[in-house]
Amino acid sequence: MAAVKLLLSCLLFTEVHALSGNFWHITDLHWDPTYKLTDTPELVCASSGERPAASAGIFGDYACDSPWHLINSSVYAMKDILPDPDFIVWTGDDTPHVPNKDLGEEAVLHIIGNLTHIIKKVFPYIKVYSALGNHDYHPKSQLPAGPNYIYNQTAEMWRDWLDPESQETFKKGGYYTEKLLSRTGFRMLVLNTNLYYDQNKLTQDMDDPAGQFSWADQVLTKAADSKEKVYIIGHVPPGFFEKKRSKPWFTPKFNQRYLDLIQKHHSVILGQFFGHHHTDSFRMFYNSEDSPISVMFLSPGVTPWKTTLPGVVDGANNPGIRVFEYDTQTLLVKDVVTYYLNLTYANAASERWEKEYRLTESFRVPEASPASMHQVLERIANNPCYLQKYYEFNSVSYDLTECNSDCRVDHVCAAREVDFKRYEHCLEKEGAAAIYSGLLPVLSVAVSLVLATR
Ligand SMILES: [Zn+2]
Ligand SMILES: [Zn+2]
Repeated sequence: MAAVKLLLSCLLFTEVHALSGNFWHITDLHWDPTYKLTDTPELVCASSGERPAASAGIFGDYACDSPWHLINSSVYAMKDILPDPDFIVWTGDDTPHVPNKDLGEEAVLHIIGNLTHIIKKVFPYIKVYSALGNHDYHPKSQLPAGPNYIYNQTAEMWRDWLDPESQETFKKGGYYTEKLLSRTGFRMLVLNTNLYYDQNKLTQDMDDPAGQFSWADQVLTKAADSKEKVYIIGHVPPGFFEKKRSKPWFTPKFNQRYLDLIQKHHSVILGQFFGHHHTDSFRMFYNSEDSPISVMFLSPGVTPWKTTLPGVVDGANNPGIRVFEYDTQTLLVKDVVTYYLNLTYANAASERWEKEYRLTESFRVPEASPASMHQVLERIANNPCYLQKYYEFNSVSYDLTECNSDCRVDHVCAAREVDFKRYEHCLEKEGAAAIYSGLLPVLSVAVSLVLATR
């Protein structure tokens, strides 16, 4: 009897285990081939612009994009930590932050080619789903809504990862869809949201650049008919940057259209995975009854490069890479584990990729579903301890200063509202709440003084 019980529990255990899968998400590698150690801090790398790279070491500097040594280190760290993922998600931005005149089409392709090569070399048998970033084009951010040399050449480089139909749509608009895990019922949608970026001058006057929205709508409608589950990946996310108030990326009409797409098809979309921010954050999507229906995970970048965006103070990060754990039957995201390299420590002592945090542990939620992520957001919004924890993770444990009340409003409203109008409304509401709670001690002193004088 005991033996039967043991056998049963073992069977149950294997069953539970088989349901769990994992995959890597890497993004924003931004290789700077000019990086070199010299005695003149201004000459370490082209991507620092005029800024001195004061603490440059072999793994890089916070003022610079990634040296090859850091790229290599991050890909081999993936291999060490989780050598056999179900698949890899790679969401673009391969080239350095330098003026267009210092790159050119061939330089961009050379950089995409080198990164493709190292990922293939280290993970030869793993399927990679790869999206274009706004830096994976020349001139940067000007990704066209039709066939061109760079889409063509990139499709060739990624040939092993794309089936024939994907090759076709990729060459036309930089987007594609593939079966996920080569299994019926599971689908990956890879979007070229650079077409919706407000810096892209080629697409501003179009209704539906490269027909991507109507194509995605068709794919998702078909997915619902065939009872498929879908993940969406892309580079530039909708909504706002959490480190700069009222800074969106999408053109307003495209932001609305993206929201409409998610709201219409949320029942088949089990997760959205994007990059571009270089920071670690997430975006909530709600239905008209304010119930959470979808989550977009924004994964931190490999490049530590301090942003030059005006208004952002000290916007650098430690290099980060991330594992998602998910249910292989339902595609529900169960957990998120972020690993990082403390750049200062790596340069001074040794290369040490370590676990930064596990989402369910740090935020005390059962999983990473929309309902759980809504709970995470409420904790961040209402509890200063969780806010501070989230804030330190946001820069991959680079910026450990206090997240003050303005900072709280910026991060909470960016995570809560992808819609432009609702975001502005959130700023007013949360800002007013902050003023009120700031005034509370003053008011109570005033009241007690009044009472005392009576
Ligand atoms: Zn980037
Ligand atoms: Zn980007």
